[in-house]
Amino acid sequence: MVATPIGNLRDITLRAIDTLKSVDAIAAEDTRVSRKLLAHLGIQTNLISAHEHNEREAAQKLVTLLSQGKSVALISDAGTPAISDPGAIVVAHVRAAGFRVVSIPGASAITTAIAAAGLQSESFCFHGFLPVRKGEREKMLAALKAQPGLQVFYEAPHRIVECIASIVAVFEGDRRIGIARELTKLFEQVHVCRLDEALAWLEQSENHRRGEFVLLVEGCADAVEQDDSGPQHVLEILLQELPLKQAVGLAAEITGIKKNALYEKALKLKNEGGDEKK
Ligand code: SAM
Repeated sequence: MVATPIGNLRDITLRAIDTLKSVDAIAAEDTRVSRKLLAHLGIQTNLISAHEHNEREAAQKLVTLLSQGKSVALISDAGTPAISDPGAIVVAHVRAAGFRVVSIPGASAITTAIAAAGLQSESFCFHGFLPVRKGEREKMLAALKAQPGLQVFYEAPHRIVECIASIVAVFEGDRRIGIARELTKLFEQVHVCRLDEALAWLEQSENHRRGEFVLLVEGCADAVEQDDSGPQHVLEILLQELPLKQAVGLAAEITGIKKNALYEKALKLKNEGGDEKK
């Protein structure tokens, strides 16, 4: 499994190049797209098609090649295969047939966006693309509204306005959103603002609605209040044994909930007469 660039062709690792050069065949999501990358790298390895609609047959073909002692790399059009891209079905078949699968890490739009946005969170949850239909999309968002970690979505330019409008409609407006577009490309931009300012920013310029997008939405700040039982129980137990600060730190690690939300909860518990250490 070989990661390829998400825009800038220089974002490919030396190990990825070595692997693509040395394998007997490369299974690619779209052979026309990959041919351009391989030509750029001066690689002439044979290409096999392995896209969303033929992944099972491709998997069989790959297993046959591996059984003959050949080596095969799998790449997608951009970034890390199997991340909102084909690959997982092939890997499952290959593993089931008893062959070793090696991942050659590299670019992915998820990690690239998170690294540049500066939205601190103990955890993040990646959801891929939100449903196309508004009703389904908003139902899914409603189910994510109380999640504490950073919520990460992919989106295409033709749906970016509807998608952000749904997030704004369902989540609280004072959360921040990171809108990362065209990462690693010429017009790369990572804009961070309050959710209730996001639609105005999109309206400001046609360019703001162009390109490929990753959306990063801050988690629910008072997630403890929304679903209290599990995290509160963890806090109560830790507070019986540890000083407040240490209990909060450990509870944050265990539950993935932000420290400041847990700190407030811990203070409340203490004031209510909890028997934690001072
Ligand atoms: N496998 C890829 C990865 O590891 O990131 C993702 C493939 S998915 C089919 C394509 C989506 O990823 C795009 O619609 C966009 O949401 C996101 N994406 C890919 N490249 C991007 C880039 N350069 N800037 C921002 N988002 C990007």
